[in-house]
Amino acid sequence: MSNSDQIQRFMFEHHDIRGELVGIDEAYQAVIKKHDYPEQVQVLLGEWIAAASLLSEILKFDGSVILQARGDAGIGILMAECTHDQKIRAIAQTSGEIKSDKIQELFGNGHLVITISPTKGNRYQGVVPLDSDTLAGCLEHYFLQSEQLPTKLWLNCDKTSAAGLFLQKLPTEANATKEQQQESDNQWEHVVALADTIQSDELLSLDNETILHRLYHEEEVRLFESQDVEFHCTCSKKRTADSIKTVGQSELLDILAIEPSIKVTCQFCNETYSFDKVDVRALFENTTNLGNKGKSVH
Ligand SMILES: [Zn+2]
Repeated sequence: MSNSDQIQRFMFEHHDIRGELVGIDEAYQAVIKKHDYPEQVQVLLGEWIAAASLLSEILKFDGSVILQARGDAGIGILMAECTHDQKIRAIAQTSGEIKSDKIQELFGNGHLVITISPTKGNRYQGVVPLDSDTLAGCLEHYFLQSEQLPTKLWLNCDKTSAAGLFLQKLPTEANATKEQQQESDNQWEHVVALADTIQSDELLSLDNETILHRLYHEEEVRLFESQDVEFHCTCSKKRTADSIKTVGQSELLDILAIEPSIKVTCQFCNETYSFDKVDVRALFENTTNLGNKGKSVH
């Protein structure tokens, strides 16, 4: 049985290499069940949430990681978000016929934006072209470019569950000799070569201890406590109100002269929020009372 809906970090005792394993079942089902996604998109969503989970686990602060790809072929947008405490959500918008399973062909002339958004402080964004066949390839490119840390990811999804393996080479000590550097590079290559032998069905079905034993039984690997991964949407009536407020009070009241209420459905979780005249008036009155700092008021 796999470690469902859990992420677990590990560390090689004698090498400067860290790793993570994630398995996502129920949370993945929650992402795809309310939408009629083509099969390839279901698979990509699984890989996307596994990657977002792996990346958010290395955050050193409270916040979230958003992986958003935009393209001009079959998929317009594909986005996954994961918070530091492993709450995930994801969505895709398709615009044409989905024929391929290679992301370069699915997104056409596309790019991937990686947003790291701390709860406090400035957000960071990195952009990489979608010029690899897989999301893992694009992310490896990103890590090499932005952090100069050799990183490898294995992402799999079989439309029932998603799983991922992450390995990262940590910087060697500043005073390391050339031989030590070389030794460290060799260890990294060895660890990656072993990880490359894992089959996707093994990653999706075996528990973490078994995977690590199968790959690294000759190494000393320390496994940290696992953390639960769950689907959670951050939408709320307040957030939805903030977004419809940008339309403007008179425009909203014009709509409400015809319709009894304005209904906004969250694309992530299908929750519907409804606003009538009283709600809309209250929305703008509150903003004025709060001092109208120029945000979302037109
Ligand atoms: Zn929602």
